[in-house]
Amino acid sequence: GRKIIIVGGVAGGATAAARLRRLDEEAEIILLERDEHISFANCGLPYYIGGTIQDRSKLLVTTPEMMKKRSRIDVRVKSEAISVNTKEKSVTIRQNGEDTYEEHYDVLILSPGAKPIRPGIEGIDNPRILSLRNIHDTDQMKSVVDLDTVKEVTVIGGGFIGVEMAEVLTERGLRVTLVEASSHILAPFDDDVVTIAEKEMQDNGVRLLLGDPVTKFNTTDDGGINIFLKSGKSHHADLVVLAIGVAPDTAFLKDSGIELGTKGHILVNEHLQTNCDGVYAVGDAIEIPDFITGRKTAVPLAGPANRQARIAANHIAGMPSSKYDGAQGTSILKIFGLTAASTGSNERTLRRNGVPYHVALVHPGSHAGYYPGAEPLTLKLIYDEQGKVLGAQGLGRDGVDKRIDVIATVIRLKGTIQDLTDLELAYAPPYSSAKDPVNMAGFVAQNDLSGMSPLITLEDIKQRNPEKSILLDVRSVQEYESGHIPNSVNIPLDELRDRLDELDSSKKLLVYCQVGFRGYTAVRILHQNGFNAVNLTGGYKYFKAAS
Ligand code: FAD
Repeated sequence: GRKIIIVGGVAGGATAAARLRRLDEEAEIILLERDEHISFANCGLPYYIGGTIQDRSKLLVTTPEMMKKRSRIDVRVKSEAISVNTKEKSVTIRQNGEDTYEEHYDVLILSPGAKPIRPGIEGIDNPRILSLRNIHDTDQMKSVVDLDTVKEVTVIGGGFIGVEMAEVLTERGLRVTLVEASSHILAPFDDDVVTIAEKEMQDNGVRLLLGDPVTKFNTTDDGGINIFLKSGKSHHADLVVLAIGVAPDTAFLKDSGIELGTKGHILVNEHLQTNCDGVYAVGDAIEIPDFITGRKTAVPLAGPANRQARIAANHIAGMPSSKYDGAQGTSILKIFGLTAASTGSNERTLRRNGVPYHVALVHPGSHAGYYPGAEPLTLKLIYDEQGKVLGAQGLGRDGVDKRIDVIATVIRLKGTIQDLTDLELAYAPPYSSAKDPVNMAGFVAQNDLSGMSPLITLEDIKQRNPEKSILLDVRSVQEYESGHIPNSVNIPLDELRDRLDELDSSKKLLVYCQVGFRGYTAVRILHQNGFNAVNLTGGYKYFKAAS
């Protein structure tokens, strides 16, 4: 049989090994892992440190022994690939950090993953500034967190891992500060909706310091750390969790002839083959196409790594049509009682790539309002002029996961807002509404593109020409008086038909209500009376959340 070497024994590597064995009983399969654990649950690490997962052994999904027995894989732990010779087709392996030897391959699969970024900030060498990638890091961080003397923690970086760590450590009773260099946390979400997640963190006691990069760390007499920020602020922590992102762990490939991108990502084709004969690469270490824009990107998430590993194994085992189409970046996150999920492109990415788009924002209930326990959710849908769905973001306490997964499916099938309106989804009052929030977002988007009720966003309101437009609040007088968008006039929807003469028909009417529904009705009345009117998507609730 062929000799297949796999570098990296966790998400991508272990998946590829198991799949290959199922497809090929004859191949000799060697799995190299630098650390002592293979196939552990990276995604579970924060929850073990936090205490939700109590049993450490539950993190070790598969052991080398199990893989050897069940799949006849030659698992070699504490075995690091230190270089690859793609001409001779061999890998140099360092065992136990000492002896090296060479191993020939017919096929090589690289899944070395990505490592936490550690920038050269002054004072970063303090042993209480830790990052989280593997079991070793986890044990180390947990042993510090378990100390009675550790009370204040600063998390640097508001990405998924940073936010998860801030949550679990707060729930353990520690005082947590989260520092983020950008003006908002969680880059997959747009600024206007991510505020909901930020509020949830603050409401649960996390101190957020946004838009303020770290400039320096100083070790204090008690062994803790003083953290200095660009604004001049500084504060103390007993532990710093550094989670500012990851970089591909590909330094060992530098002289291999395998093509790498500017940031060190391995470049692959649609079959996950590198430029070198017999060499494949998968997982966090590779550059892949963005499924929406087609541009090159990197999506360091477990779903894509697992999928790519299966596809590469299929291709190696003689399925030539097996190919990878790119990643949507579908992701989900628990933030205390809130769920935040997204799929596809956000406004920021589309703007950067010059892709025109529309936005519809709805605030439906998670299920029928008359059945107890319904929770409002915020669902933001992004689509192009032809109605093709480009992305979605959802935040709420219930039912966010399934709505984002349904939209992720529609995006994968290259569907449109028409498809969203056509979907027949499971409904009974405890679960949804006869018009599911996904249908509802589709209806709103359809009314927008058809011109029935064109939508505008907060950005459009900011940029409006006050000479040529009127901002019209169609909520009740009471609602208006308890808070409204500056410079708006109030005509409640139920009085609108009788008070049309108060409006200047030469001006464009920018209508808003609380969530967008009364605004829609108002726009229909205004259009049929000869006015040019548009509706603020998401309404005043959206304005409030974003400001
Ligand atoms: P990894 O799983 O990192 O595996 C790479 C392995 O290769 C490592 O064990 C490394 O030791 C080994 N290695 C590297 N270089 C060599 C070498 N030269 N020789 C031998 N071995 C080598 N994703 C999600 O989708 N959802 C989540 O909720 C989520 N939570 C996460 C939480 C944490 C704390 C972390 C760290 C990651 C999380 N991820 C999550 C990301 C997910 O774990 C990764 O996307 C996925 O593990 C990538 O798989 P991979 O095979 O590319 O790399």
